Amino acid sequence: MQDLGRIGKNLLTWYGENARALPWRVPPGVAMLADPYRVWLSEIMLQQTTVATVGPYFAEFTLRWPTVQALAAAEDEAVLAAWAGLGYYARARNLLKCARAVVATGGAFPRSEAGLLGLPGIGPYTAAAIAAIAYGASTNVVDGNIERVMARLFDVSTPMPAAKPQLKALAARLVPAARAGDHAQALMDLGATVCTPRNPRCEACPIRRDCTALKAGTAPGLPIRTPKKPKPTRQGTVYFAVRSDGHVLLETRPPKGLLGGMRGLVGSDWAETPAVFTPPFAADWQRHGENIRHVFTHFNLELTLYAAKTGRVSPSVGAFCPPVSPQSLPSVMRKAYIAGQALVP
Ligand code: SF4
Repeated sequence: MQDLGRIGKNLLTWYGENARALPWRVPPGVAMLADPYRVWLSEIMLQQTTVATVGPYFAEFTLRWPTVQALAAAEDEAVLAAWAGLGYYARARNLLKCARAVVATGGAFPRSEAGLLGLPGIGPYTAAAIAAIAYGASTNVVDGNIERVMARLFDVSTPMPAAKPQLKALAARLVPAARAGDHAQALMDLGATVCTPRNPRCEACPIRRDCTALKAGTAPGLPIRTPKKPKPTRQGTVYFAVRSDGHVLLETRPPKGLLGGMRGLVGSDWAETPAVFTPPFAADWQRHGENIRHVFTHFNLELTLYAAKTGRVSPSVGAFCPPVSPQSLPSVMRKAYIAGQALVP
């Protein structure tokens, strides 16, 4: 028989001894809540990205912009460049919009889930997480890790994503009146380190006594996922051009759409049809031997890269600019820029 009170108690005891030390966290048991700015920043960075990837970005952002006021006052370009490599650039633009909205209304993040939900880029999960972790509100925080733990704890056989409302309702039954932030983080850590997608370490699990899927032997296969459709592949061309003074041809992409507002190499649109060679000016273009490949959430991308050295020319798109650090470019453009540099150093 499952004992919800015991599950909650065992989770908090386990979290007290096993919490991951993360830079945006206050350790368990410390009578202080986390800084809402740091919780918000970490949660936005962690959407679709791993804790290991986020670590250095979080360190740089909090060093350069230690408060929401500092971030709100930052140049858009500086923030987008610092975000480069984290992907999903709409998030970086919403990050700035959100920081400015918070500063415009007094400089404090709203304390309620509803207030937080009204801010740009904050969805139900992030609002619940900030309210619980930074303000101690008894909200129901449910991310992918927690969905997996719920599916196993209660042996839910409904496939995803149809099971989401059921899993959320089950998670709500466990939310405690006190220490809701620690409870949410305990579940996140359990999902990340013990109740992992493959090969859950049930022998090390603090709630195994109450786990229905463990008893039924169904845990590793849960939650049930409907097979994904294969991703389409889109193709395009990019052009790396270096002028005799060392300047490189770059463009700023349109504000809307993929990589919106980010700098990158000049190139064609991306389509599920073969790429066409339409260079921005006539030159001795050399084709790179291998295509530049990148995986986006909904499609794979293959870019044919051409590179050229040139004198004074007037490109049909973009402009020649001083060379940039490849790190300031979004990942796919970084790959193309580095490959272009190797071709025409
Ligand atoms: Fe997950 Fe196993 Fe713990 Fe159940 S006992 S919650 S399956 S790690």
